[in-house]
Parts: sequence; structure tokens; C-alpha cells
Amino acid sequence: MSAVPQHRVLRTEIPGPESVARHRRTTAAVSAGIGIGLPVYVARAAGGILVDVDGNQLIDFGSGIAVTTVGHTAPRVVAAVTGQVADFTHTCFMVTPYEEYVAVCERLNALTPGDHEKRSALFNSGAEAVENAVKIARRATGRSAVVVFDHAYHGRTNLTMALTAKVRPYKDGFGPFAGEVYRAPMAYPLRWPGGADACADQAFDAFVDTVRTQVGADRTAAVLIEPIQGEGGFVVPAPGWLRRVADWCREHGILLIADEIQTGFCRTGDWFASEYEQVVPDLVTTAKGMAGGLPLAAVTGRAELMDAVGAGGLGGTYGGNPVACAAALAAIDTMVAEDLCGRARQVERLFRPRLEALRSRYDTIGEIRGRGAMLAVELVAGADDPTPNPALTAAVNARCHRAGLVTLTCGSYGNVFRFLPPLAAPDALLAEGLDIFAEAFEAAQR
Ligand SMILES: *Cc1c(COP(=O)(O)O)cnc(C)c1O
Repeated sequence: MSAVPQHRVLRTEIPGPESVARHRRTTAAVSAGIGIGLPVYVARAAGGILVDVDGNQLIDFGSGIAVTTVGHTAPRVVAAVTGQVADFTHTCFMVTPYEEYVAVCERLNALTPGDHEKRSALFNSGAEAVENAVKIARRATGRSAVVVFDHAYHGRTNLTMALTAKVRPYKDGFGPFAGEVYRAPMAYPLRWPGGADACADQAFDAFVDTVRTQVGADRTAAVLIEPIQGEGGFVVPAPGWLRRVADWCREHGILLIADEIQTGFCRTGDWFASEYEQVVPDLVTTAKGMAGGLPLAAVTGRAELMDAVGAGGLGGTYGGNPVACAAALAAIDTMVAEDLCGRARQVERLFRPRLEALRSRYDTIGEIRGRGAMLAVELVAGADDPTPNPALTAAVNARCHRAGLVTLTCGSYGNVFRFLPPLAAPDALLAEGLDIFAEAFEAAQR
């Protein structure tokens, strides 16, 4: 990290001429289906800074979508990956196993909520982990239905598209989708028709009603929940709702799958966001923050569920690649050694007052929400009009990008800023990024 000073440097316009040149090659070589948020080409990165091919240093408030939680080129991760690449890069764990895979599973079994006996299986992507969690739940319960929620995001494969709520761009034209997926209303306090105070109770009743009338509790294998929703808008469910859903599932023999792919690994100030409501899921999916930037995903769950699948029923050629496993072990060591859960809570204390100050001046900020270093700003039309404001969101986002701050947006209505800074970014860098965001916001409002 020392190699890259932790502050913004602007040498050219953003994107600069070298990035523009590379982007011409991209449009000629890469499918237009791969959308690009900010066509700035990265040469190196460290801590909370991305260095582009024009020599600009951009402040990263996105961590490549909640992945580089331990910081870019975190020293332990770099050393572990470098060492593992020289030792061996692949055997296929299903052919001839290796210890790194086992060690990652042991850490997952110990770190995920609940002190029951657990097992894990490793995969390459979040979507693959979600698919496998559903396979395991169906196999273990002998039931087929899966219940998901409005605004949910679970991936882009066929089954996970069915589980995902938002049609554009994720599902448009890609059907038909996998069956036996049912959707219940999300306990989204800002947008709950009966108001935020009634949200937890009414959303719980609506969930139970959906399962009873449209699915059948005895046909439901699993309820799949993001404890704080990611792509769908960083929706923090009304307090108590998650707990009640979890308890109801247990009473009815329905498995609770927590999709902690975005929320996991210190991001929300706990190892896993389920812990905040003292919820112990039966199965947990993880990916993003786990391996410091290398592709790795997992399903962790109750031993009797995970072992209900016959040998060969789970797996894949690359799942639990040794280099990715070495990275994960180093990333987890970093989280423990540097108390990154505590750091995420510090980040919240730094961000919240700054964002609330902005909100007190602009009634287009409808809500500040989130936990730890997973924070969101939802933009609306005005004080008494919660109509989503995607135009202002896009305008502020473009200004942030031009000013060298990598921001991400999300939400079913495209009107939510989400802040996911690397937890290695120093306070001064985070403060500099917040200054840029505030300036961009003020300028876009004028
Ligand atoms: C990103 C994400 C996924 C999909 O992960 P990929 O690695 O992109 O397939 C699934 N669930 C949640 C909650 C996510 O944030």
C-alpha cells in the first residue's frame, strides 16, 4: 500500500486519453452485454486508491462491488497468492484434494452464525453458490418451492435470474426462467404502503400470506433472503422482521438461506449481517469480500443438510481453486488481525454525520441507511414526495466520476448511492471522498 499514496491525484480529465483509447478497443472486442460504469482503465491499485493508465489516482468507494474489503493489494493477500501460484495452481479438489480448500471450509464453519456442526462447499461465483444452496435445500427437504422477496438480487444464471426481482437489465429477454420460485413483499420501510412503523408487522403478515396461499408451507424448501439487500437498493429490512421470518420458517420446517454474498465478511460491522438480528440461518452463501479480489464463493450450512447430497452432486472443475483459497485465508487473517469489523463500524461513524448533514440541506435525500461500511443514500423528488429520483442520481454519479471518485449506484429504481469503501482506506481518504460527493451533490442540485 505504501507504494501508492492514499490521496486523489488528477493529471488528466476522467477518463483520460489513454483510457479513451483503450475503451475504443473494448467496444470493438467485448460484448455490449457487459455494461461498464466508469471506463477508466486501471493499471494498479492499493488500499483505497485505483491508479489508471493516465496516472490519475481515483478514490474507490465501491471496492469492485464489495470485494476488496481488505483493501487493494492487501499485503497478506499478495504474499499468499504469490506463494501459492509458485506451488501449484490447480488439481481440481474433486480429483486430488489440497489443504487450503479444507482450511477455508473450517474458517467458514467457525465464522458463520450458529455453533451447530457445519460443512461447506466452495464455488467460483456468488450466483453459483446461490444455485447450489437451492439444490441442497431441495435435496435435504424433499420440497421444491423457493420464496424470495421484492428487490432481491441473487445473480445472472438461469435459476438466479428467476430469484432476482429486477427485470431490466438482468432478466429482459432471457426467459423462460426456472420454476417454483415465489416472491413476497420486502419489508422496505421507506416505501412500505402502510408506513415505516407498520412495516415489520405488515410485511411479516404479507410474507406468511404469500407462503400459505400461493405456495404451501409444506411445499416450501427454503426462504432466500439478503439480510441487507444489495443491488436492489441497500434496503435494510424493518427491525424485527428478519427475526420473525426466521422463526416462522423454523416452525414450518422451511430452511432459511441467508445470501450474505454482499453483506458478509465484516462489511456491515459484524462478520455476517444476520448476526445483527441474532438470526442463525440454515445455509449461508458467501463470495465477494471473502478472498480479497480472487473469485471464490461458498455455501456453508448445517452438517445434516450439507451431507444430504450424494457424492458428485455438488462441485465443479474450478470450485475452491487453490490460489483463491490462499487469498481467502490471507484475507480472513487480515480481517481478524486488523479488526475490520470494528473498522467498518468506524467507517459508519465517519460517513453518517457527513451524509446526514447533506440530508438536512437537501430534501432530495429521502433516506440514509445501511450498517457499517455498507451505506446508502436514496434520492427522491422532494420533502413530501418519495418518488424515486434516478435522474439526479445519474447526474451526481457522473460528477463524482469526473472528479475521480468511484461511486456505485443501485436500486430497483436506480436512485440509490451505495458506499462500499475498502476497509483499508485511511480516514483522510474517506473524508476526501465524502467532500467530493458533497460537492458533486451540491453542483448537480444547482
Ligand atoms: C453479487 C451478488 C450475487 C451474485 O454474485 P456473482 O459473483 O456476481 O455471481 C448474489 N447475491 C448477492 C446478494 C450479491 O450481491
